[in-house]
Amino acid sequence: MIDIHTHVIRLWGGRPGGRGMEVVTEKEILKAMDSRGAERFVVLPAGVSPEVPCFYTGPEDILKFYKKHPDRVIPFCDVDPRSGTNSPDSDFSWILGYYKDAGCKGLGEMTANLYFDDPRCLNLYRQAAKFGFPILFHLYDRLGGSYGLADDKGLPRLERAMKECPDTIFIGHAMTFWAEISADVPEEERAGYPDGKVKAPGRLQKLLAKYPNLYGDLSAGSGLNAITRDKEYGYKFLEEFQDKLMFGTDISSNKKIIPHVEYFKEVKEGKKISMKAYEKIMQKNAIRVLKLKG
Ligand SMILES: [Zn+2]
Repeated sequence: MIDIHTHVIRLWGGRPGGRGMEVVTEKEILKAMDSRGAERFVVLPAGVSPEVPCFYTGPEDILKFYKKHPDRVIPFCDVDPRSGTNSPDSDFSWILGYYKDAGCKGLGEMTANLYFDDPRCLNLYRQAAKFGFPILFHLYDRLGGSYGLADDKGLPRLERAMKECPDTIFIGHAMTFWAEISADVPEEERAGYPDGKVKAPGRLQKLLAKYPNLYGDLSAGSGLNAITRDKEYGYKFLEEFQDKLMFGTDISSNKKIIPHVEYFKEVKEGKKISMKAYEKIMQKNAIRVLKLKG
């Protein structure tokens, strides 16, 4: 099993007793992955973009962790699209090349609160592709208020970016991405957890089917909500998009409840999807997309 989305938090700047106090350390994430049966796991930087309020783990922290556990940690780097010259001409090759040589397998979690198709982002996506880095992104419904790349209802900006950057692999994450699993996305819940039956497939399925460079990260409450809000539809979705989905948890706090492992255990034991689909989602897609050793 490969977990496509975890965090280790080096610095926590929040209020004592506030949400996130129980942040995960290296030792704890190893324990959490052991108990969940994940042999390997992606560790994502946090706080590289200034919109993330009070966590910090830089790519260098993750590379140090990776050196200690090269057989388990899959390191990602991150670069803010505004860095360099804060223009669509910024050259990131020197830093992306450095991270590539150091062993990074992708870029993200991208959390800059810019429009998804902001020219500065398109510039970073294109350059990431040259180094073979898929982009794992956190999607949000507006500019201001929180972190994450912003898109409108129906994800037109994501679509434009995929068209303009056909060589870049995009891995979608968070509420605004997964809310689009149903055609009727309530405006006020675009950054929430809409529930109820998926009466008609949403824009997400259209984009997953149309663009070979789009994948879905099933981690966090948002990913799990999308596939469990309508359980029967969820199994159909997993089977249909078995080549485009990846298992993940988004562990960042010891207090966070992560029922993903139990859900997939039920799916496997209850034979809700084919074994082929199960294996792709739990591991094989990550090996292919991140170009890992099998
Ligand atoms: Zn995350």
